[in-house]
Amino acid sequence: MSDCIFCKIIAGEIPCNKAYEDELVLAFHDINPQAPVHVLIIPKLHVQQIDGTNSILAGHCFAVAEMLAVQLELSDGFRIVTNRGTHGGQTVEHLHFHLLGGRQLELTMG
Ligand code: 5GP
Ligand code: ZN
Repeated sequence: MSDCIFCKIIAGEIPCNKAYEDELVLAFHDINPQAPVHVLIIPKLHVQQIDGTNSILAGHCFAVAEMLAVQLELSDGFRIVTNRGTHGGQTVEHLHFHLLGGRQLELTMG
């Protein structure tokens, strides 16, 4: 999608600090980190929501998050977050998962 910032990152038009890449997903460090480790894991396909045609991508993103958590030494734990829509606080409408860790995260759900 031409006006999507994450598609531009995937296309290499906007630089990123890459943490992992394979044929399905790209993971990179968030530009405005909310924790010592804050990585975004995004499908390379411009997906806006998970449905029956793309749910395999979501599962793969979680597997990549688990792998990165080991790589980034989050042995004390981590959080995986997806924001959806206005109430969810979503700002980029390209499906993505936040991997947060490296400190004690607040024990709140919102
Ligand atoms: P959302 O609020 O949609 O769940 O998350 C979007 C995330 O993308 C935010 O945490 C924001 O800091 C991050 N972000 C937005 N633009 C860029 C960018 O150009 N580069 C990187 N690395 N992160 C970005
Ligand atoms: Zn996109």
